[in-house]
Order: sequence, then C-alpha cells, then structure tokens
Amino acid sequence: MTDVVGRQDLDAALLAQLRAQLQAELDHLLEQAGLTRDDLVDPEDPTMGHDAVTTAIETMARTGIARTSQALARLDGGTYGNCLDCGGAIPAERLEIMPATPYCVGCQQRNE
Ligand SMILES: [Zn+2]
Repeated sequence: MTDVVGRQDLDAALLAQLRAQLQAELDHLLEQAGLTRDDLVDPEDPTMGHDAVTTAIETMARTGIARTSQALARLDGGTYGNCLDCGGAIPAERLEIMPATPYCVGCQQRNE
C-alpha cells in the first residue's frame, strides 16, 4: 500500500501548535517581503502581486513563504508529517523544531 495517510501519532494539540507556528512564520516572512496574505495567489507557486525589485532578502523570504505555505497546505490536506521524498514519517521532535520541513533527516541530508 502506498496510500498517503495522515499521521496518527501526531496529536491534535501538537498539530494546532505547529499550525500556529507556521502561520506566525508565514506572517513574519510576508512582512519581511513587504507582502500580505492577499498576495499569495497560489501556495505552490507564490507569484506575488507586486513588481518591486527583488532583493536577496525577498528571494529568501519567498522561498520561506513557499515552504511555509506548502506545509500549511499539507496540514489541511492531512499529509503533513510525511516526507515528500520517501513518504516516511518525519519525527515529531523534528517537526517541532522545523515545522515547515518537507523532508525526513535522511532525505534532507541526501539532498544537501
Ligand atoms: Zn524521507
């Protein structure tokens, strides 16, 4: 079976906490980039509705915004906590430190 199922071992309180962390992070990154949530057209491809000169900070913020908003989308979709690469479970301790991480430790290291 390769069906992706939601993580049964992550309790609702932890997921709520991680969601709040991700939303705070997203707001922070948007503020850094001078954007609002209204500028997020598509979380998969955050094409921002403004044409300011792209700075290094803004590029970094956009990468973070994409990661963070994708993590929130996975929370909504019930696939949060599963590695995007191998599909394995990302340990709760890792999610608590880096709620937006899409990969388990093994895949993260392989991708670096
Ligand atoms: Zn993995």
